[in-house]
Order: sequence, then C-alpha cells, then structure tokens
Amino acid sequence: MDDTALAFMFYVADHRDALAQVQALSEAEAVEAGEPLSSLRDTYIVQTLASAAHQRGVSLEALVRELIAKPNEPDENPSVASLEKYNRMRDFAASPEPSGSSRAAKRSKRTEAQALQFCVQKHDATRLHYDFRLELNGTLKSWAIPKGPCFDPKVKRLSVHVEDHPLEYASFEGTIPKGHYGAGEVIVWDRGIWIPQGDPDEAYRKGRLKFELQGEKLSCFWNLVRTNIEGKQEQWFLIKHQDESARPVAEFDIVAEQTNSVLSDRTVIPRKRGKSKPSAPAESAAKAEPLRTANAVPADLPDKLAPQLATLVESSPQGSEWRFEIKFDG
Ligand code: MN
Repeated sequence: MDDTALAFMFYVADHRDALAQVQALSEAEAVEAGEPLSSLRDTYIVQTLASAAHQRGVSLEALVRELIAKPNEPDENPSVASLEKYNRMRDFAASPEPSGSSRAAKRSKRTEAQALQFCVQKHDATRLHYDFRLELNGTLKSWAIPKGPCFDPKVKRLSVHVEDHPLEYASFEGTIPKGHYGAGEVIVWDRGIWIPQGDPDEAYRKGRLKFELQGEKLSCFWNLVRTNIEGKQEQWFLIKHQDESARPVAEFDIVAEQTNSVLSDRTVIPRKRGKSKPSAPAESAAKAEPLRTANAVPADLPDKLAPQLATLVESSPQGSEWRFEIKFDG
C-alpha cells in the first residue's frame, strides 16, 4: 500500500461516504473508463484527497503526510473525539467550513499561560442566531443564542448547547451552501479572549461558568448557566454580570446597534422568510420613535458641527471605563 492509499484509509475514518463511493465503483464503470477497476479506484482516491487538500488550502502531498503522521485516535485525544459529531454533520467537500482536524489536537497541548479565545458568529440559518463559542481543551464549546448577547443583567438569553467546533472555526466567515447543515451566511460578529473565573473544566461540567470577555464588542463579566429545562439539547442562559459595563436593554441593545463583522466589511442581511415571518408594523413603528433621555432639554440644532478628532497624547488615560485603540495614520 502506498502513502496515498494509506492516507485515504485514515481519511475515510471521518468520511465514510468516500469509502462507500470507492466500493461502489463497478467493473462496468472501469470498462467505460478504459482502465482496470483497481486503477480506477486509485484515481478516485487521489481525486478525493486532492479535493480535500484543496478545501483546506494545502497541497495533496501535505495532506497525505498529515494524515499518515496523525492517525485519528479519538480515545487518546479528547478534542478530536469531541469533534466527531461536528465532522459527522458536515460534508467538507461541499461546505467551506473548516474540518475538525489535527490542529485542535496540537493546540490542546497548550500551556496554562496561553489565553483562551472566544468568538460570536452571527449565523443567518433557518433562523438568524448568534453562535457563542469558548475555547476549552482544544475545541470551541458552543451555544446557539437566538437573540444574541445583551448587556442588561436582567435579561437572560437562551443559549442552546450545541456540538463542539474546531478552533479554526473561530475565524470562519462565509456561506454554507443550500442543502447543508446550517445553510446560510456566517460572519464573525465578535472575537477576543475569555478569562474563566476558577477552574473552567469544573465550571463547564457543573454548568455554571463565570468569565470575563475581552472582545471588540463584548467586555467585562458574564455568566453562562445551565438550566433544567427539558429539551433535546441542554438549555443554558447567557446573563450579563452586574458590573460597570452593564446597561439596560432599553438604552443599549448591542446586537441591534453593532451588526457587522469584526474581521471584514461583511454584514448579514437577514433573508426574507416568506409568510412564516410577517413584518410587524407595530414593532417597526416603535423602532422609529426617537430615543428619549430623561434629562434632555429641547434646543435648536447648532449652525456648525465639528467632528470629534483623535488627539495626540503622551500617555493613555487611567481608569477602568477606558478602552484603547492605537490609531495608525499614513
Ligand atoms: Mn449556527
């Protein structure tokens, strides 16, 4: 058995359909192709691996080497095992999503000192929702949040626990094709690091995570708490912790105000979903109402408005209410 055939053996461990297709190649097809069945199978194997390599943006040789060097041993590697469901639900030859491969395994051997990443993806699938993902043990623990995060500690956002995703998924944006699991647009709505309070493994097991987020949109402390609500999947709640970043939802609704990707200029314009979701005139009328502030005094518009410009300073201001960004000119 040559390297390619060996690599294919490892490949089909995660892609049963590819094996079935090789086995289905018939003598009749070989006659039609004008070559022996064995060489027709070899051609098919090379083509399958070449297309998988292309999907991942690596050369065929690199993929073969990787597959041979890293046979899947789910029992020995919890992160790969936990991605089995993710891999089973997807066809990576058709979807641009990353496959749960060996990179997660490498990363799972991380040291304590490395920061843990988080991301929130806005996903316009059957229903628009936000996928909240926290890195833990080499994979992204994941929750689907129909209404997205909210800075109001009084608002509990239902978070449906879903399958682990590979770490590479944190930067995935694109279109999952029609007919595939999760078909629709995905953008990275927020990204950064999360800092668990206490032991994250134990907290995750107990269903009571408390953590700090340092993202571009989300910040400060949050709670993610498992409920006892019955359902096919675990139902959790994402709740803003009461701290200086907390704000009532009537005053600040981050998913409505900050709609775009943090990685690109992409945005998601929710698709029209026919009669199942009629537009609510009452709701849009309410949205058009200008925001009233309690102590505002009516006044005329000034003749001229000066834009707020960046100011050169020697040092950054002190205090926890500031966030910083370096301004690069030129
Ligand atoms: Mn999703």
